[in-house]
Amino acid sequence: MSAKYVYTFGDGKAEGKSDMKNLLGGKGANLAEMSNIGVPVPAGFTITTEMCTVYYKMERNYPPELKTQSHDAMANVEKSMGASFGDRDNPLLVSVRSGARVSMPGMMDTVLNLGMNDTTVLGLIKQSGNERFGWDSYRRFVQMYGDVVLGMKPESKEEEDPFEIVLKAKKKAKGVELDTDLSAEDLKELVAEFKALIKDRLDLAFPEDPWEQLQGAIDAVFGSWMGARAIRYRKLNGIPAEWGTAVNVQAMVYGNMGEDSGTGVAFTRDPATGENRFYGEYLINAQGEDVVAGTRTPQPVNAAGKTADDQVTLEEVMPEAYKTLEGIYLKLEKHYKDMQDIEFTIQKHKLWMLQTRGGKRTAAAAIKIAVDMVDEGMIDKKTAVSRVEPEQLDQLLHPTFDPKATRNVIAKGLPASPGAASGRVVFHSDDAEEWADRGEKVILVRIETSPEDIGGMDVAQGILTQQGGMTSHAAVVARGMGKTCVAGCGAIRISYKEKKFKVGDTVVAEGDWISLDGSAGEVMTGQVATVIPELSGDFGTLMSWADEIRTIGVRTNADSPKDSMVALDFGAEGIGLCRTEHMFFEGDRIKAVREMILADDVEGREKALAKLLPYQREDFYGIFKAMAGKPVTIRLLDPPLHEFLPHEEANQQEMADEMGVTAEVVKGKVDSLHEFNPMLGHRGCRLGLIYPEISAMQARAIFEAACKLKKEKIDCLPEVMIPLVGAVGEYTNQRDIIVETAKKVFAEQGIEVDYLVGTMIEIPRACLVADKIAEHAEFFSFGTNDLTQMGFGYSRDDAGKFLPHYVDAGVLEDDPFQVLDQEGIGQLVQMGIERGRSTRKDLKIGICGEHGGEPKSIKFCAKIGMDYVSCSPYRVPIARLAAAHAALEAEKGEIQRDK
Ligand code: PEP
Ligand code: MG
Repeated sequence: MSAKYVYTFGDGKAEGKSDMKNLLGGKGANLAEMSNIGVPVPAGFTITTEMCTVYYKMERNYPPELKTQSHDAMANVEKSMGASFGDRDNPLLVSVRSGARVSMPGMMDTVLNLGMNDTTVLGLIKQSGNERFGWDSYRRFVQMYGDVVLGMKPESKEEEDPFEIVLKAKKKAKGVELDTDLSAEDLKELVAEFKALIKDRLDLAFPEDPWEQLQGAIDAVFGSWMGARAIRYRKLNGIPAEWGTAVNVQAMVYGNMGEDSGTGVAFTRDPATGENRFYGEYLINAQGEDVVAGTRTPQPVNAAGKTADDQVTLEEVMPEAYKTLEGIYLKLEKHYKDMQDIEFTIQKHKLWMLQTRGGKRTAAAAIKIAVDMVDEGMIDKKTAVSRVEPEQLDQLLHPTFDPKATRNVIAKGLPASPGAASGRVVFHSDDAEEWADRGEKVILVRIETSPEDIGGMDVAQGILTQQGGMTSHAAVVARGMGKTCVAGCGAIRISYKEKKFKVGDTVVAEGDWISLDGSAGEVMTGQVATVIPELSGDFGTLMSWADEIRTIGVRTNADSPKDSMVALDFGAEGIGLCRTEHMFFEGDRIKAVREMILADDVEGREKALAKLLPYQREDFYGIFKAMAGKPVTIRLLDPPLHEFLPHEEANQQEMADEMGVTAEVVKGKVDSLHEFNPMLGHRGCRLGLIYPEISAMQARAIFEAACKLKKEKIDCLPEVMIPLVGAVGEYTNQRDIIVETAKKVFAEQGIEVDYLVGTMIEIPRACLVADKIAEHAEFFSFGTNDLTQMGFGYSRDDAGKFLPHYVDAGVLEDDPFQVLDQEGIGQLVQMGIERGRSTRKDLKIGICGEHGGEPKSIKFCAKIGMDYVSCSPYRVPIARLAAAHAALEAEKGEIQRDK
């Protein structure tokens, strides 16, 4: 039997279903599912994603069975819709859309009215009894086909669509303003002019044969899978090229057949806040693309969505259709048990559903919807937790505008995606990327956005558009990215040419600072002050469910009582890394540190260290107290000493004056500490080996602080950590100093505290000899920043120059300093764990490199048996949720294995 590449749907049945997303794409699977559950869907068929893969394997050719299968499927559609493809009297017209597993901007846009030609247009006119409608559909088709399939859509940002230029000229010649004022005769002329334009530009006769048109559209969909924009989007979102896209061919229904027709998009719940209310926009006498294109401002479907009194709702103008729509949205949400994003068309009062899919939502909405659906008995807690993406939480963990700050609001648009953003205005996506590369914060300001703007949107703090509704490209994409967005801000007038926008008399030029409040839709001049968010309510509920599910601990990297408190509020269960070097820079301490470095002998160093001791003791006391008995891992001094000395001549002079030595002495010291490769130089435990008095002072500060707390009856649990160990001897040397110091302090204080001594594992050799190290170490903490640096041989400080290129070129999937390289560095970590636990079963193991806050890496850490991950305070909730996801995935894996 030959392979099946085509699946039909419509008429209350389908060959596919919703769990066939991998084969049919998201859109195709859902169209099939809607058919199956009796939702009115125009009949059609889906060409599978497998065909896409075969197409590329066959060097952009098709196996012969595609043709026969498509013809059979088309016959099915013809039967269902009572019309024939290419028929002169009663023509069937179709739409052609791409549809990957996940919705993907950057793929081919939709082609509507496919099947129109000089003959079928007459049939359409006969069927609809509307000559103007027939010619309007035809001219739209020629334009779309020319733009999308024949590639005439302008590439550059300043260029205008060539068909739009002809259309404008026509309107001018006829003395009318709106497209709708053009007569049937005008539109007929336009069709001829559009075709002439195609002939002129491409030396190509417009294809009249509907099957040839369909073939062209299918080629274009599959071709767009390897287009630059799609590749770029895939890269940004980690979508593999092997997935391929499906093609959906579906009978046309018309929202532009007159005042009794319309089209719209809606969400079953509010995608910005998560509120349980049906929320959508529609346009009367329009085709689907008009709603999202932002060229006409859509109206709300119901009273709840009204933002102005003069708006007219669908509920008011077509109560019957609205009622049906309401029934369908409830049915869909109940069926899918999730908030849906739906597209509908009303043709002569009859409602058709064109699409349903899980709706993109802000983090706040995702949480509210998940928690509400548990309350409504629709889903269980585990499903709720799995519905919120860990990385998405980032949106909620950052500051919002200070309610007390002065706001100079110059315009109001739609609150398309919440958040507080300040940045400098840029008008083009590539400018945004260029400025962001220079470290500038930017706000991307566009008349409207399109998939070409993805890169710019990604780097911008926020997005402001002049046109478009809550479902415009800018709004949908921004919500998905968690970016602040104010859309459809009609009060601003943008001039790309002058790189300015105007609001009344105010002129805002490129480079000027503005602020956007995505929740209020406000545009403000200047930078507005922000405050830290409060996390409670639904957020707290969802996080508590995540905590019930996860099996791995979450600690934080913090080196001050303040950061510790923030992390505790975010749910940290301990400190996984306290970097003590940061403490050496504060206030007068740096002076003592420099004295120690300048000293020529042990006595001199000890004298300087004695000055540092009380400061360090206070630091540790504050942190232990804040953490109230939770484990606190304190790492002994790590960076090379030259980092504490000034390198500029003027600053060296200043230091010399302060220390009472000559500038030459300072310069001499700086020179003597110079290293060719400081990251591989005299740092980490190597400092403590040469200057044991430094380790002794730090250990003393730790234990004196701990004893003080114990005397105050406050619990504390210090874990002293030795950095950069590669040889067992390094570890034991430092361990001895710590243990000796503890003994001395306990004897002096007359009290003892529990503590652990362990090590960072951040040198590849340490992974290899982990069994020997673990004979002496009570815990390991994987320093995957250094382990990545040394495992790959990429300098942490310099890799930024080439790694982005590696990722772009596909040499590496991700930047290994951000996402743990499981294939390579991950093996080192696994080996370290296995070998370590081979000699010490109860060895406590965590990670404190940047990867400890990155969801994919966290899942890996959970899988390979770590006890905890540690990350920056603001990432703690992300880590808690990612850890819960890891547990859920493991559970699913178990279930699948059991089966
Ligand atoms: C590490 O190397 O992963 C680590 C946490 O230490 P640092 O980043 O301070 O070198
Ligand atoms: Mg390190």
